[in-house]
Amino acid sequence: MTLTTTAAVCHQPDEPLRLEQVQLSDLQDDEVLVKITATGVCHMDIEGREMLPAPSIQGHEGVGIVQEIGAAVGSVKPGDRVVMSYAWCGRCHSCEHHQPYHCDDSWDVTFSGGRLDGSDTVTQNGKRVSAAFFQQSSFAQHAICSERNLVCVDSTLTDARLAAFPCGILTGAGIVCEQFALQPGNSLAVFGTGAVGLAAIMAAKKLGVSPVIAVDINDERLELASGLGATHVIDAKEGKVPERIQELCGRGAGFSIDTTGNALAFNNAIECLSPGGRMAACILPSPMEEFTFKPFQLFVKSLSLEGVSFGRAVARELVPKLVAWHEAGEFPVERLIREYNFEDINQACQDSLAGVAIKPVLKMPD
Ligand SMILES: [Zn+2]
Ligand SMILES: [Zn+2]
Repeated sequence: MTLTTTAAVCHQPDEPLRLEQVQLSDLQDDEVLVKITATGVCHMDIEGREMLPAPSIQGHEGVGIVQEIGAAVGSVKPGDRVVMSYAWCGRCHSCEHHQPYHCDDSWDVTFSGGRLDGSDTVTQNGKRVSAAFFQQSSFAQHAICSERNLVCVDSTLTDARLAAFPCGILTGAGIVCEQFALQPGNSLAVFGTGAVGLAAIMAAKKLGVSPVIAVDINDERLELASGLGATHVIDAKEGKVPERIQELCGRGAGFSIDTTGNALAFNNAIECLSPGGRMAACILPSPMEEFTFKPFQLFVKSLSLEGVSFGRAVARELVPKLVAWHEAGEFPVERLIREYNFEDINQACQDSLAGVAIKPVLKMPD
């Protein structure tokens, strides 16, 4: 049975999204229909407008209530409250070996605009809409989601609060807890204090990592980073960032994360490391093009440069853990969140781009 719902539709990447009626197709066996109650807004939602042919629907941090399940779905039932995290195919080598974050089909399940079999999840008056963004497209009042994305969370937190967790926050904390698996005594430098960087800092504090050095050019953000667990902050506008980090850590940081996509920060995040150190790059200065990169330090200090895919976190394991930390007052994600009504989605995206809102979250109407 086709369901009509309201979604935020992108008709032109540089134009405001429009709330319009769209039709959801029938569920496949491994899919779940979710009534969305809240959804986070992530930078990738804004970049995603360029990646999917218009018209398209983004959104990949949904929270909601299961309404209907496909014939083969066994892990959730109608009425369950779910958090919707990243997509994975479930049948490739990585997925079968408990590494869904390294799914061989990650790009297609995330950005192809439809299901892996090429079929559409959403149409509008009989015409194709690029959706299934992260196999969810949660900028809508209802969404078809793969069962694999779903995390059941037993928590009294509001839906809007939960919607902050499933992507950027998961990734930042994942780098610290899973990818680097940091321990007390490790040192960490975090370049950029957006949602990913601040989540890494909060997780590092929780794990007893010290020093934790936050680097940014925004004074307010550096102050926030300090309040969330950074033991030191560096204003990059004052220059000599690698030297200052080396001084603070004695012989350089053991680990660094670049979340900025800025070429200078990228190079500094490598240069600040001690021998054998590891740098995780969340975003490249020019993802599809060449950029200036000085590999000398990498070579002489035997450093590792690593890509980041959701911080190598398994959402069903790390999201509940982060929520529990949050409930215990040890992961104060509320300081990053700004709530908006669904109809104000364009304002939320604008505030995200302008850095006014670190983690915008949309609340759906009842
Ligand atoms: Zn896979
Ligand atoms: Zn995201």
